Amino acid sequence: MRKFVYQFSEGSKDMKVLLGGKGANLAEMTNIGLPVPPGFTIGTDACKDYNENDQTLSEEIFEEVLTHLKLLEEKTGKQFGSNENPLLVSVRSGAPVSMPGMMDTILNLGLNDKAVQGMIHQTKDARSSLDSYRRFIQMFGDVVRGIPSYKFEEALSLIKKQKGYAQDTELTPDDLEKLITTYQELYLEHGSEPFPQDPLTQLRLAVQSVFDSWMNPRAVVYRRLNDIDPNFGTAVNIQAMVFGNTGNKSGTGIAFTRNPSTGEKAVFGEFLINAQGEDVVAGIRTPEDISKLKSHLPDAYHELMGTCELLENHYLDMQDIEFTIEKEKLFVLQTRNGKRTAQASVQVAVDLVHEGKISRDEAIKRIDTKQIDQLLHPTFEKKALEKGEVLATGLPASPGAASGKIYFDASEAVAAADLGQKVILVRNETSPEDIEGMAKSEAILTAHGGMTSHAAVVARGMGKCCVAGCSEIDINEKEKTIVTNSGITLREGDAVSLDGSTGKVYLGEILLTEAEIGGHFDELMEWVNEVKQLDIRVNADTPNDLLTAIHFGAEGIGLCRTEHMFFHEERIAYVRQMIVAESLEERKRALAHLKEMQKEDFIQLFRIAKGRPVNIRLLDPPLHEFLPKAEKDLERLAQDTGKTLAEIKKRVNELAESNPMLGHRGCRLAVTYPEIYKMQAEAIMESAVQIHDEGQKVFPEIMIPLVSSKEELAFVKQEIKESVQAIFDRERVLLPYDIGTMIEIPRACVTADEIAKEAQFFSFGTNDLTQLTYGFSRDDAGKFLPSYSERGILETDPFQTLDTAGVGALVEMAVSRGRMANPNMKMGVCGEHGGDPRSIHFFHKLGLKYVSCSPFRVPIARLAAAQVVLEEREQLQKV
Ligand code: PEP
Ligand code: MG
Repeated sequence: MRKFVYQFSEGSKDMKVLLGGKGANLAEMTNIGLPVPPGFTIGTDACKDYNENDQTLSEEIFEEVLTHLKLLEEKTGKQFGSNENPLLVSVRSGAPVSMPGMMDTILNLGLNDKAVQGMIHQTKDARSSLDSYRRFIQMFGDVVRGIPSYKFEEALSLIKKQKGYAQDTELTPDDLEKLITTYQELYLEHGSEPFPQDPLTQLRLAVQSVFDSWMNPRAVVYRRLNDIDPNFGTAVNIQAMVFGNTGNKSGTGIAFTRNPSTGEKAVFGEFLINAQGEDVVAGIRTPEDISKLKSHLPDAYHELMGTCELLENHYLDMQDIEFTIEKEKLFVLQTRNGKRTAQASVQVAVDLVHEGKISRDEAIKRIDTKQIDQLLHPTFEKKALEKGEVLATGLPASPGAASGKIYFDASEAVAAADLGQKVILVRNETSPEDIEGMAKSEAILTAHGGMTSHAAVVARGMGKCCVAGCSEIDINEKEKTIVTNSGITLREGDAVSLDGSTGKVYLGEILLTEAEIGGHFDELMEWVNEVKQLDIRVNADTPNDLLTAIHFGAEGIGLCRTEHMFFHEERIAYVRQMIVAESLEERKRALAHLKEMQKEDFIQLFRIAKGRPVNIRLLDPPLHEFLPKAEKDLERLAQDTGKTLAEIKKRVNELAESNPMLGHRGCRLAVTYPEIYKMQAEAIMESAVQIHDEGQKVFPEIMIPLVSSKEELAFVKQEIKESVQAIFDRERVLLPYDIGTMIEIPRACVTADEIAKEAQFFSFGTNDLTQLTYGFSRDDAGKFLPSYSERGILETDPFQTLDTAGVGALVEMAVSRGRMANPNMKMGVCGEHGGDPRSIHFFHKLGLKYVSCSPFRVPIARLAAAQVVLEEREQLQKV
């Protein structure tokens, strides 16, 4: 017989795939002697079985559950369904990978009209017993029958209003009895059958609902956003209830062993007296800081602090712990590695190394490359911020800064973001249904909830700025308004700015500046450098980009797109003159201007690079990006060239191409007009000579784009070499430099052994290589690729993450053929994939020398390059 159900004492923290994260950790904590209420876990295999059998819970599995339930009754001395001494349980989901707020929880299961009397008899506390019952009906109705929670909340508010109560805790047993009757009526009305009084029926339905919730749309979206395997399934944890809502000596809360926003080493958390767990997370009541627990319940507080230390030392990572105190006795309900901001992630990892708890390698492995983006988040520009008008202050729930237009509904936020607007999602409190709206917004603002509310936890995970619990504003989601304390009214589409690090909300838009990193991050990155083998270069065309990149640790320029240096209005005029020139003379006139501009730029880049390699790619202008279209640009070109408007239009027409991406671009330009690359080669070398004369080191790499054959490269290279030699002869110097080629056409990959004879380096242009391998136009793929991902035809966008099976195979072929001809050939990547962690893993395994990416991805690339080395070492150890 297969085993599906496990007592907590049968599991361990290493059994996450079978028991889910929550179940595995409950087992671990039970086994190390922590005060965990007893219970058992229905493993993920049961969820798979359920899904394979058309969402049916087999009798075999349910029988096994009942056997374990008997054991639980023996342990607690209570009976399931008893109207004297009832056993109540919580039923909670727990997937192998943590999915906060995604799955459903039911508390107080086992209560019915009779059992609640038994509970009153036993606890001598009618109020908390009845309160538990009404919560159970609400949660059960919501999770099992899909009855919206607000229906129950409305009934609750109505009674409170009638009685003039401010707090839920003011409800008397009488009020609660009435409320229970109303709740049962609501259940019957919306659930089309009476609320089930049989606890075993309750249990069966609850387990089925947890399994069903694995496939609910919000869970599916969360898994998609976080790359979680959809085949895992969820486990179900069934655990004896403990009660945080039994008076002022009881409570419930969440404790992080370190600060999840900053990483500071100090227990951080929140609690509510006289409440049950979901009150803290749901954000309906605003919780108190954990330090206040010390005066309320000192013994429980000290035990909790001891537990935090013990758990962190056991797991060797920052823990996120859920606890309940029942009549002064502490119970631990859950522990897991705490979600944290990138800043906290880095600080905690580095601190743990300093504390001698983990190795440097372990610290590197723990940083999520996706999160590093957060560290590089912008903040508000100081001067602009001083002028900013503060509307309100809430909790600094997730760092960063953002400006945008406010939307009060997640789907409207998505629609506005899809139209290109910067959007701030404003809600009283968020719920998992809002997940897509949150993902597409710049930032999130809520009026209710604490630092561990749904909005706060999810925003931190997404690396999004969030101000939560901003009670100084009144949000009316129906009217779509925010009213501030000072009486200012904002409506949908109005702009606000949020600072997720201070919790401040500002009126209007505020200028942003780029992020600054340092301290712990720099230390971690030094360790990264000792491990990684790939060099990380930058794709940079401006001094600013290069400065930023060097600050982030770039080891040279891997791609300077010279045509990008001409996008400026004044400069593009000369490029256009060059393109429309009809004679050598005309072209040379335009080129002379361009040469001077190029020299200025190259000199600046060489100075900043200080001897690091600077890879300059010769012109590769797809014509459609450069030919003038607007009437005023055509007129300007006519003026500049001394031609008539009609002549210019005719020439532009002649030059227009049907497929510019496959047209007269790259080195083809130099085959027809060698003087273009000659000019660029002169500009590069004359600048290099000047830098050399200034006593500085300089190392240019001249890169020829869009090469498809050895002969083509040989022709273009010859012209360049002659120009360079002429400068060396004239200046009586000899500087080191390399001439190489981009490999971005499939034919170049196939004939790489031939091409290698003419090249000192290869740089893979994986953007064009992807375009030409798939035959997907880079400019138009956005129109059809989304359907490919929706239909599951493409798992990832091949322009972002390298298609290793197709494009990658061509790269691999080029590498091995290139090395056959030239074993020491320097090879790197300069397409967008050079900044993508998964692609970087592939390039490392091919033994390339470097990857090159945009400045802000340099730290991510460094980290990914180190992580792949560590991964390889681990695999080797296993063999
Ligand atoms: C490439 O094609 O990958 C590349 C780096 O060049 P570009 O994007 O400029 O075509
Ligand atoms: Mg290209």
